[in-house]
Amino acid sequence: MIGNSSFKVGIYIRLSRDDGNIESDSIISQRSLLNQYIKENNYNLIDEYVDDGFTGTNFERPSFKRMIKDIESGRINMIITKDMSRLGRDYIGTGELIEKYFPNNNVRYIAINDGIDTFIDNTNNDIAPFKAIMNDMYAKDISKKVKTSLHSRMKEGLYVSGRCPFGYMKDPTNKNHLVINEEQAETVRLIFDLALKGNTYHSIADELTKRKIKTPTSYYNYVWNTKSINGNTLSQEKGIWFDTTVRSILLNQIYVGDTIQGKTKKINYKLKKTVKNNPKDYIVVENTHEAIIDRDTFNYVQTLLPKNVKRPEKKRFYLLDGLLYCGDCKHRITIRYQNKTGRSYTTCDYYRTYSKYHVCTTHTNNYEILEGVILEQIRDVCKKYLDKNKVKDSIGNMTFEDNTLKIKKQIESLELTNNKLIQNLDKTYMDMLKGIIDEEQYIRVSENLKQEIEDNKSNIDNLKNEQINENKIDNKKIEKYIDEFLSLENPTRELIINLVEKIYIYQDKTIDIIFTFKNVT
Ligand SMILES: [Zn+2]
Repeated sequence: MIGNSSFKVGIYIRLSRDDGNIESDSIISQRSLLNQYIKENNYNLIDEYVDDGFTGTNFERPSFKRMIKDIESGRINMIITKDMSRLGRDYIGTGELIEKYFPNNNVRYIAINDGIDTFIDNTNNDIAPFKAIMNDMYAKDISKKVKTSLHSRMKEGLYVSGRCPFGYMKDPTNKNHLVINEEQAETVRLIFDLALKGNTYHSIADELTKRKIKTPTSYYNYVWNTKSINGNTLSQEKGIWFDTTVRSILLNQIYVGDTIQGKTKKINYKLKKTVKNNPKDYIVVENTHEAIIDRDTFNYVQTLLPKNVKRPEKKRFYLLDGLLYCGDCKHRITIRYQNKTGRSYTTCDYYRTYSKYHVCTTHTNNYEILEGVILEQIRDVCKKYLDKNKVKDSIGNMTFEDNTLKIKKQIESLELTNNKLIQNLDKTYMDMLKGIIDEEQYIRVSENLKQEIEDNKSNIDNLKNEQINENKIDNKKIEKYIDEFLSLENPTRELIINLVEKIYIYQDKTIDIIFTFKNVT
């Protein structure tokens, strides 16, 4: 390039402790990039200015000061940096420097990775990138403010969505509050009742349709959900209940009186698209309105739903269907009837589906024998449970109660901590906007805070699961089931799913039974 050699170049290198361990920002890496650039473009390198361990938020840096002196004495007339942030992270100060100081002193400035060259007239050069940065931060702030206000309304448990959930209506005196719609609530109770009896989504939907129960859509004036069966389009308005409708009602925590919001979120302020939030990020506010289903029943139904699997009428009935899981890969174990032998066998579903990939092994067992062994084990544990509980009854149930309370307190304290951490995060963000801390510090501090919040959240989730297990079923109910189970020669499936959570079968034929009540050993 002709004329390039007439430029007396100073390269400026800066590494701050806040940069962390980003290899490309190391002194060596900046220096090698700059030297290569100088060689390729045939510039005349005069001096190198290195500030090691200085922040970019101000210009109190020894080498930077020396560089300014050299500009003023005419020793150099061109500065090259890896990117703008090496020059400074104070956007306004850096802007002043590039927009006013360099031009006034006839200094050419190049930021290699940002495509800035103040001597070439293109759109990259003027203040555009700075405007972009500032606009960006400004936009981030506005977007955050809108989200925060919606979020804070959600956190108060105010009902902010448009349509009322089935079973409720808006309080005539307060549009942000829900009250029970008695007619619809009756249907909700019926659905939970049918699920308690071990029905699948499908059989519940069938039952409701058969009983001519009004569907949610029939309360509105338009059709919003249609389904094609044998080429005929059926609509909910015509009174057909769908599995999906039943499912969404059974899974909806709104019926215990909680408000759940924030199920979707905007990716960021630049995109209109919304994505589904992770359930653990839902905003749940408890007891914001009257419950239709009590909390124990709701939680209990949630544990039943995975066990209420579809059993078409033609298929054989298996007592343990839906309860068997592969102990090795944790997928379901299915039972199949073999015409050839006239017997039924179990297989790991994961193995069968992906057998060519060798992801698991067969887990084949003669079902009849397996069922016999499992029932024997269940009987055994049930007998032990009764024996132990007779002793326990005489000393009272204190330990059981204590644990529930302890878990509740732990959850409360973790939630309190998390609220404080979230406040800190917001404050840190404001500190960055106000310039109290720089972006690098913000990123470092916020990453730590976010990690801590995440850790707490997963602890809370674990405790909540434990809480559900503790409350799952009370001792009196369990004893009733156990008594009944032990008295029957052929126990019913209903009884079994009330006593057993899951049964793991291992390839080596070990069997692990998870009970719905606290195990006694
Ligand atoms: Zn398996």
